Amino acid sequence: MRLTRCFLPVMKDSPSDAQIVSHKLMLRAGLVRQTAAGIYAWLPIGLRVLKKIEQIVREEQDKAGAIELLMPTLQSADLWRQSGRYDAYGPEMLRITDRHDREMLYGPTNEEMITAIFAGEVKSYRELPRTLYHIQWKFRDEVRPRFGVMRGREFLMKDAYSFDLDEAGARQSYYTQMLAYLRTFQRMGIQAVPMKAASGPIGGELSHEFIVLAPTGESEVFYDAAFDEFDWAQSNLSYGDPAGLERLFEQVTATYSATDETHDEARWAEVAEDRRRTGRGIEVGHIFNFGRKYSETMGLKVSGPDGSMVTPEMGSYGIGVSRLVGAIIEASHDEAGIVWPEAVAPWKVGIVTMRGDDPASIAAADDLYARLIAAGVETLYDDRDERGGVKLGSMDLIGLPWQVIIGPRGLEKGVVELKRRATGEREELSVDAALAKLTA
Ligand code: ATP
Ligand code: MG
Repeated sequence: MRLTRCFLPVMKDSPSDAQIVSHKLMLRAGLVRQTAAGIYAWLPIGLRVLKKIEQIVREEQDKAGAIELLMPTLQSADLWRQSGRYDAYGPEMLRITDRHDREMLYGPTNEEMITAIFAGEVKSYRELPRTLYHIQWKFRDEVRPRFGVMRGREFLMKDAYSFDLDEAGARQSYYTQMLAYLRTFQRMGIQAVPMKAASGPIGGELSHEFIVLAPTGESEVFYDAAFDEFDWAQSNLSYGDPAGLERLFEQVTATYSATDETHDEARWAEVAEDRRRTGRGIEVGHIFNFGRKYSETMGLKVSGPDGSMVTPEMGSYGIGVSRLVGAIIEASHDEAGIVWPEAVAPWKVGIVTMRGDDPASIAAADDLYARLIAAGVETLYDDRDERGGVKLGSMDLIGLPWQVIIGPRGLEKGVVELKRRATGEREELSVDAALAKLTA
């Protein structure tokens, strides 16, 4: 993408209405603009990041055997009356009336709808287990929307729902999503520690929040330092290995971690003092087993192996896709701006010409740009006629993993400069060598 053809409004000064660094940087680097309280338009660069995050979530859900569908944002009030949540949900639910005076709502979540859809189609235990998910906008009329996309009113969520014949099956579905979450966040280049959440109906231990550590997080967290060395990718574990999945779950639950809501002083005291870690964190995901709560109220029954009717066990599994954009920035930035982990960066490479009026620099940059695009490397080319310093500042702010800096002095020696944003390391090398490195 050539910057002169993009829509990339970069701000020099820090916006005064933003309190936390991720929100400031998202405004300054032109990722989002607020259009109403807690509601944001995603500008091109923000949308690219959002789509990358969404795609990682999707791929990891698919690998875990979950099936994607798409449910609407608008739902009928009657659906929610069936579960009793229409009245219970309170003022966070945005209620709408259509022209025929039918009561509708903008979905804050989808348990009722997915259960009703599933109940309409699935009649036999042979069609279980299933986990279905969608990635869709939600609306919650939060009292205090704040911190930009971190606590918005409209936000993008991945929500998955599992259906199992019995409790043992439901546990396996839960373990499967737990592993999918570890891998999902690991791929995004962040550490999201699974922490015990307020208990679910089975057993009490089947609810975890995934928390990214950041000083601006809304929850207070306590965890064993063992999580700092945790193997997040679990590359030796397969989804087809029930015993292995259970061992992973046992390992996670045996290692202390809790938010202020579930913190247990007695268990905390058993963690060696030099291994106790405390801080603040951002909830980026939440997995939850709720047994038969919705299958019962929404009338989901299937015929079991012995012919009797069975009410399936369910769980739900959320990831805050749009919140993650802010959470990743909280976890990965410096004085100069955002430092994107490569997997979610809006582009991999940024090209900067130090002198926008130097024909040799422009020719070299045009050539490198064309070759990077031909090689399939996502590249942003700052072809503005601006001072070099201004362009370098924008590139650092936007935070692409690699910068290629091209200037007349280097070109005389036949070199360009390659800079790694995360470390600030710079090296001079030929255009061919830079290209080889960026396409490796
Ligand atoms: P919170 O405790 O932060 O209000 P929640 O527990 O109500 O969140 P869930 O119902 O568990 O949220 O939703 C699943 C995920 O959706 C959360 O883990 C979070 O990442 C994201 N999420 C929830 N509320 C918001 C919001 N207002 N803005 C952005 N993301 C949100
Ligand atoms: Mg939650």
